[in-house]
Amino acid sequence: MSAVESATSERAEALRALLTRAQHEYYVLDRPALSDQEYDQLFRELQAIENAYPALRTDDSPTQRVGAPIQSGFPSHRHLVRMMSLDNAFDQAELEAWEQSIERVVGAAVHESGYTVELKIDGAAVALTYRDGLLVTAATRGDGTEGEDVTRNVRTIRGVPLRLMGSGHPPLMEIRGEVYLPFAGFERMNEARVAAGEPVYVNPRNAAAGSMRQLDPAITAQRPLRFFGYAAVLPDGSVPASSQWALLETLGAWGVPVAPHRARCRTIAEVATWANTVEHETRAALGFAIDGGVVKVNDVALQDELGVRNDRTPRWAVARKFAPDMAVTRLARIDVNVGRTGVLTPFAVLEPVEVGGATVTFASLHNADQIAAKDLREGDWVQVVRAGDVIPYVLGPVPERRDGHERPWHMPAACPRCDAPVVRDGEDVASYCTNVACPGRQLEGLVHFASKDAMDIDGLSYARIQQLLAAGYVRDAADLFAVTVEQLVGLERFGRKSAENLVAAIAAAKQQPLSRLLFGLGIRHVGAQAAQLLARQYGSLDAMMAASAAQLGEVRGVGHIIADSVASYFADPNVVALLNKLRAHGLRLDEPNAIQADGPLTGATVVLTGTLPTLSRGEATALVEKAGGRVTSSVSRKTTFVVAGDEAGSKLDKARELGVEVIDEAELRRRTSAASTDRHAADDLT
Ligand code: NAD
Repeated sequence: MSAVESATSERAEALRALLTRAQHEYYVLDRPALSDQEYDQLFRELQAIENAYPALRTDDSPTQRVGAPIQSGFPSHRHLVRMMSLDNAFDQAELEAWEQSIERVVGAAVHESGYTVELKIDGAAVALTYRDGLLVTAATRGDGTEGEDVTRNVRTIRGVPLRLMGSGHPPLMEIRGEVYLPFAGFERMNEARVAAGEPVYVNPRNAAAGSMRQLDPAITAQRPLRFFGYAAVLPDGSVPASSQWALLETLGAWGVPVAPHRARCRTIAEVATWANTVEHETRAALGFAIDGGVVKVNDVALQDELGVRNDRTPRWAVARKFAPDMAVTRLARIDVNVGRTGVLTPFAVLEPVEVGGATVTFASLHNADQIAAKDLREGDWVQVVRAGDVIPYVLGPVPERRDGHERPWHMPAACPRCDAPVVRDGEDVASYCTNVACPGRQLEGLVHFASKDAMDIDGLSYARIQQLLAAGYVRDAADLFAVTVEQLVGLERFGRKSAENLVAAIAAAKQQPLSRLLFGLGIRHVGAQAAQLLARQYGSLDAMMAASAAQLGEVRGVGHIIADSVASYFADPNVVALLNKLRAHGLRLDEPNAIQADGPLTGATVVLTGTLPTLSRGEATALVEKAGGRVTSSVSRKTTFVVAGDEAGSKLDKARELGVEVIDEAELRRRTSAASTDRHAADDLT
């Protein structure tokens, strides 16, 4: 053997060992240590070596088999017909090469047939055996010949028909498809696992495979698994349809869920266009993971003629793989961001990596608990996904790749921006910088202050706030109201007109109601709704500041967490100074739609039902609340009165049954009129 040959032989052996281990981790343990991209690359390298040196191909080579042998714990199940894998095409050129390989066997007939293209669902393959339309067995793919009998688990999956609909069911048939986990369910499941201190699943595929192979079907039943069917075979290997397209239609008619976005294509160019649209447009909105498209020769007779390429893959189908939405990269370090409310959010600084078509360098890590639960360490190799939405997410480390240099991480004790002490409230997962004037908060805080739902200052964009901070014109929200046109025209990208407009927009914001100011201040836990509840209850900033935490907590919809946060915010001398500055600038510090403490409906509980002649549900509610009453959704003995409009239903019956007073809109207006200072009370309600 030459030196080159022996080096190649060694490489082949190393690759076989690596891939065999990877297959075990992926198919049996449901915990891959390599990304699919890395796996595919190594797999192809081994295939290339084996093609060039057939003598180096061993029977147990990972290139020669499908999946992995089954694990104990489940009875084994022999498939009616062998289950295959798919060859991959990574780009248009490989797709064209695949078509040429088909043409060499069946010639131009393939153009007559055309192709059916389907989403390649990234889940776990399953084979469902139906006898006369009744589900009798469900099995994993296993090594293609034998899988695990997971019938009891699969029966719990919504969408898997226990009995097929329609008619014409063959006496014995295997329907094949993919069990998958939608992203929403995957995230929920992992959150629950973090909370329970269990390791998270690396991706929806592994979570689906792992869920399907639970020894306790009750656990599988709790997992929001779904199913799509894409194939059916009879015991003699034939297909109960004349084309793949017709088969999918038949499956649909039998009540089997079939994946959306399938299409028929005449040419490979059409396939390429479809794949392009799916990869770059459809994929992001799907709600479940796909890793490509599957292209199948449509005509079943032609499929038979084409047969299999080797023991692993059919010649008539190919997977057009997409750029991975998961990648493995190194976590260089963990940094901390200070948010507008002072929350410290750790984030990952990654070695740049391509995921789902974008380069990812940063990813939020949410909080210290999540980092601890995932056991993420600086220097770790980590799995990064960009799935479903565009926000990159670090799934977890790859502990197998640790070399001992990784460093566990802890939340710093002092704020990285201002050095103030960092605190963490008992049950709260977040840590906070205690300094209200922390420079880390300034930018995000001002951006939030100016935002649509807060003070809604037109033209005060992120970039402009950065400019104002850099020029030293503002340090806090109150400074905005002192900014002059002359100052602005001195800044880049400001003409006189735009400077005047911005100053006018800032001045106009002085008239915003207290609720918007309160939200805009960025008090921890105080969202737009809580701000509105508080502002309407107290009517003015002074009244609210005079209230104790206990009193604030009594406001309906405001719990003790919000109340404590508001009370301690107002107790901070820095905050008092800021509010005084705002007052000096002439801001409106009251709420136009405040609830009257001694309004005509104070203490009353009102139920609305049916369609009122002029007031919408929201307007009527606001009218009642402004008069001091509260609106509830169900009628009880405690209900003061019911306002009924057209088509009032069961609530009206209930009111009559309980002897609760029923009035109409006109009477409601009369009873609340003492609360309205305007001519038409509903007009100024939002
Ligand atoms: P595959 O997942 O690439 O393709 C075949 C499978 O696609 C079928 O068995 C079926 O389950 C599925 N599929 C989804 N939608 C389909 C449709 N509409 N029509 C037909 N089939 C459809 O092949 P495989 O053999 O399951 O796995 C190989 C791939 O798995 C590799 O390319 C790699 O990406 C990944 N893998 C990764 C690791 C790792 O360590 N990261 C290890 C092993 C395998």
